[in-house]
Amino acid sequence: MYDIVIIGSGPAGLSSAIYAQRAGLKAVVIEKNYLGTGQIAESERVDNYPGLYGENGFDLGEKFRSHAESLGAEFVEGEVTEIIPNNNDYSIKLDNGNTIDTHTVIYAVGTERRKLMVEGEKEFSGRGVSYCAVCDAAFYKDKVTAVAGGGDTALGDAALLSKFAKKVYLIHRRDKFRANKTLQQKVESIPNVEILLDSQITKISGANKVESISVLQNGNANEIKVDGVFVAVGSVPNSALLKDLADIDSNGYVIADEDGITSAKGIFVAGDVRTKKLRQVVTAVSDGANCVLSAENYLENK
Ligand code: NAP
Repeated sequence: MYDIVIIGSGPAGLSSAIYAQRAGLKAVVIEKNYLGTGQIAESERVDNYPGLYGENGFDLGEKFRSHAESLGAEFVEGEVTEIIPNNNDYSIKLDNGNTIDTHTVIYAVGTERRKLMVEGEKEFSGRGVSYCAVCDAAFYKDKVTAVAGGGDTALGDAALLSKFAKKVYLIHRRDKFRANKTLQQKVESIPNVEILLDSQITKISGANKVESISVLQNGNANEIKVDGVFVAVGSVPNSALLKDLADIDSNGYVIADEDGITSAKGIFVAGDVRTKKLRQVVTAVSDGANCVLSAENYLENK
């Protein structure tokens, strides 16, 4: 029986592991991907994590992980399929058939990339449609690419792609970007990035791989030849495992304040999957710390 099962090995989960080890609690991190560190591994550069300016996202995740490992954190690889209430405890079922029993759960499973939901997106996924510029940008040397979205991810992707592709169309559905101003100014000054505002990709076409996109701009339809489409239109929370256990808001986020306390006794939520205003590495790691404190208090009162 564990004191805490931490589900997820991104910054929130790894921070939880660090705090749990230092609190002397018996904890285990369940990671879906072997040695994974979550979505942060897909960020080319993190400029707003204090003290580690300009760190590559993959390297930052590795640092979090090795910190947790150096304190003796235990990791188990597997996908959680069910969280079953068991008297005042929980049984965590994994896809490999194993079950782990625990007094408390820290749920830190993050979000996954939202899909554009247009014709051709699914068909050409992995054949010109990508959700990870850091992973795939280098394949587009001297090619033409499009990025969909107007947030930090989309503009970061456009900046990265501009170093490889000969042309990058940045396609955003509104007339204003959501991304931070510094990034906007940077992207606006890159000569091979063409910004299309008030525009939506409506179809992705090709034979065996992506060859063009249909774009609707202010009511006018255009066909643009591209070799690749990078979809960066935000994320959806991975809250399905808690849907019958804890309160979830209308956007799918698990409802909790900074202390991570959910409506389910003994389940705490950390990181991007929690209701909050700012989803950043720095808020994810502070959630992890807060959740361990909340779990510790809960265990003492139990
Ligand atoms: P986001 O901020 O939610 O932005 C998503 C963008 O996609 C928005 O511009 C949105 O348009 C657009 N969009 C949503 N659904 C769409 C659809 N169906 N069709 C077309 N466009 C659509 O997501 P994000 O950029 O992935 O960022 C997520 C969080 O991570 C944010 O808090 C961000 O600050 C953070 N982040 C931080 C860094 C960093 O600091 N280094 C890097 C990446 C991300 P509207 O603007 O019209 O809603």
